[in-house]
Amino acid sequence: TQWVYTFGDGRAEGQAGMKNLLGGKGANLAEMSNLGLPVPPGFTITTELCTYYYDHGRAYPEELKTQVEKALDFVGKLTGRTFGDPENPLLVSVRSGARASMPGMMDTVLNLGLNDVTVEALARGAGDERFAYDSYRRFITMYSNVVLGIEHHHFEEILDEYKDRKGYSLDTDMTAQDWKAILPRYKALVEKELGKPFPQEPEAQLWGAIGAVFGSWMNNRAIKYRELHGIPASWGTAVNVQAMVFGNMGETSATGVAFTRNPSTGESELYGEFLINAQGEDVVAGIRTPQDITEKARVASGSDKPSMERAMPDAYNELVRIYGILEKHYRDMQDMEFTVETGKLWMLQTRNGKRTAKAALRIAVELASEGLITQEEAVTRVEPAALDQLLHPTIDPKAERKILATGLPASPGAASGAIVFNSDDAEAAKKAGHKVILVRVETSPEDIHGMHAAEGILTTRGGMTSHAAVVARGMGKPCVSGAGQIRVDYATQTLTVAGQTLRKGEIITIDGSNGQVLLGQVKMLEPELSGEFATLMGWADKVRRMKVRANAETPLDAKTARNFGAEGIGLCRTEHMFFEGDRIVAVREMILSDDEAGRRAALSKLLPMQRKDFAELFSIMSGLPVTIRLLDPPLHEFLPHSEEEMQEVAKSMNAPIDKLRHRARELHEFNPMLGFRGCRLAVAYPEIAEMQARAIFEAAVEAGKTTGQPVVPEIMVPLVMTKPELDLVKERIVAMAEAVKAESGVAIEYQVGTMIELPRAALRAGEIAESAEFFSFGTNDLTQTTLGISRDDAASFLGPYTQKGLLPADPFVTIDQEGVGELVKLAVERGKKTRADIKLGICGEHGGDPASIHFCESTGLDYVSCSPYRVPIARLAAAQAAL
Ligand code: ADP
Ligand code: MG
Ligand code: MG
Repeated sequence: TQWVYTFGDGRAEGQAGMKNLLGGKGANLAEMSNLGLPVPPGFTITTELCTYYYDHGRAYPEELKTQVEKALDFVGKLTGRTFGDPENPLLVSVRSGARASMPGMMDTVLNLGLNDVTVEALARGAGDERFAYDSYRRFITMYSNVVLGIEHHHFEEILDEYKDRKGYSLDTDMTAQDWKAILPRYKALVEKELGKPFPQEPEAQLWGAIGAVFGSWMNNRAIKYRELHGIPASWGTAVNVQAMVFGNMGETSATGVAFTRNPSTGESELYGEFLINAQGEDVVAGIRTPQDITEKARVASGSDKPSMERAMPDAYNELVRIYGILEKHYRDMQDMEFTVETGKLWMLQTRNGKRTAKAALRIAVELASEGLITQEEAVTRVEPAALDQLLHPTIDPKAERKILATGLPASPGAASGAIVFNSDDAEAAKKAGHKVILVRVETSPEDIHGMHAAEGILTTRGGMTSHAAVVARGMGKPCVSGAGQIRVDYATQTLTVAGQTLRKGEIITIDGSNGQVLLGQVKMLEPELSGEFATLMGWADKVRRMKVRANAETPLDAKTARNFGAEGIGLCRTEHMFFEGDRIVAVREMILSDDEAGRRAALSKLLPMQRKDFAELFSIMSGLPVTIRLLDPPLHEFLPHSEEEMQEVAKSMNAPIDKLRHRARELHEFNPMLGFRGCRLAVAYPEIAEMQARAIFEAAVEAGKTTGQPVVPEIMVPLVMTKPELDLVKERIVAMAEAVKAESGVAIEYQVGTMIELPRAALRAGEIAESAEFFSFGTNDLTQTTLGISRDDAASFLGPYTQKGLLPADPFVTIDQEGVGELVKLAVERGKKTRADIKLGICGEHGGDPASIHFCESTGLDYVSCSPYRVPIARLAAAQAAL
């Protein structure tokens, strides 16, 4: 078996396509060498060896030693040096490199091969004793830290004590003699900590470092990281051994990192930092402030230190030449590491660079415009979820943050406002023209109006799928949930955190992208939806097959959805309309009546309001499909809670309050999610469905006239489990359509369909499709009922399931393809068998989740429906799924 692959001098045994075997770093070093770029020669020990090592009780195959020796000879020949030679020693770096870059792996060891003898040779060769001893002390520190596990600060303490005594402030004040004087103490420290001397033998050093890289694959940090990112342990890491080039050989030497495009703005420019007379780790360590690479950047930063462009023009021009080659070759923005040794540039690493969402968009669009990639490739280059960052105001990165607490990043975007502690105050403040942040321990459906009025929502309890989080995401409002350090006191209208007490009316800012709660007003940046965003979305729309609709009920949501490119409404939750203004009183009347006549009286008050809602919605969506779901939630959600509310309803109904209390108690349910809700309401009280159907049809007639666009409402019956159940409700709807037609003289086109959100409905989809003209998969409820997990209670126990790998993801965020997904597939199949042209969609949280959208594409759904602010994400994800 070939365990070792060499590179250098314009050739290599590996190439970029071999990342699985050589790791990312090794494969790209080979590729750069093949391209004829200046790469210090070296070799890569494969990831397969890592696997072998662990399969064989941490032992190497016999032939490895010979292969490594041969590779060292190869490197030696190219550099004209010999590993371990006392006169002309080859020094190397040992670098780990997995397939995906992985923090937690062993750090790089530089200058390996140095010892008391070779350091003298290095000094003679370079004619610079200080450089040689600086390299040697770096090596002892790094090797001891990384390979021998002796903590860095022990060495720092020795150095600091020495510098203090000498009155030095910088490492660069240290002379060759100073470093020489320190070395014996470093070595003594190692001997004391380890019980044996620092290894002087280069060969022992090398195998020590190789073993440490493979060993680090199974250290706790790496295991944890793999767990979190779903990287299998079987992948293994590679080890790269590479001839050293020295950036610390004086003023004509340097080390740096550079991007081929600006990783935060995406602008096409060489961007990066470098340090003169330094080695790799100095740039990251932040001991000295790095210098700008280009003169333009130096002018912009106002730095008084020369740019690389000015300080070392030859190396700079070479870097410019090479970055052009690399970007064209990889057809993507590159993140490069380089070192200049006495004026000569060497490339040490290249990879596709990480970037902000904004930069990702600009880079993708510009690469396509430059002809480097196709428009379709550009569509695949942007992570859909990352768009979230762009659709909301964000905190100016330059602004100062006074952090009060950190909760969960429940809904992205940032907002500032005055603290209010209840929804009525939020609404009142909004009416008075103030911006507020609604602060609650947790929210409930009654807070919808307050959440609407607030700029953002902060809760001290509840997870990523708590009511506040889900509703806020739906509204596109920033939300921080579960900020447990904050104590809310409703009685005194204060919150207390970190020893501070804030009162109602004081200003806070929440950052829903990272969960921070900040004191005071913070400067924001507004989202930009034109330019590259619009271009890329246009390209995405060209390739996508599925339609994207929005879940929306308010005019504002509907308009937002259209602005974001929604092609209809996939879910209009009529119950949300029932909380608007003082309608809730009429709704409560309806619920608390104990006979049909009473209900009808209340419903007749609601009819004109619903009709107006729908007419408005239809005209905003002018001609686009609108799916309206009949009343769904358990009735008790609308019940009056306080004595005051109870009296208000009693007065309005002219009914004795005791009777109402009794009725409210009757409506109490032990398990409301599986209780008196969905079409069960229409079965028991058909007049509710009738009123809603009438409102819909009358609104359709009206909107058809005013907009001149035909409105084809899709009426959706929720929580159906049997066909007869659906038929019963459908009959009423059809009768109402006939009645409205007779009254208005206008024939209305419409469809009646159902949500598939119970396992039984999925199983019986074949016969349900005889009556249903469309299915919309309500995967929130379908997940609850298939897994038997209540979404509202899942937070307390679902965590360990994903942490322990029992579930691949939170099933309320990403659809459980194996279980819930199988039911969806089955229902699609059975539904289509009955009705070939049945319209199929999905609504609920999964409709805006990229992984779930891929599933919808492969299952052949016609559309996904998601909250307005997720529409662009869904458009992009649907396009990627179609490619
Ligand atoms: P990381 O994966 O943490 O970036 P690297 O293996 O890339 O670790 O090494 C970190 C830095 O060490 C590099 O950016 C480079 O500056 C320096 N380095 C690595 N190998 C060499 C070498 N052969 N010669 C000079 N510097 C090197
Ligand atoms: Mg690196
Ligand atoms: Mg449902």
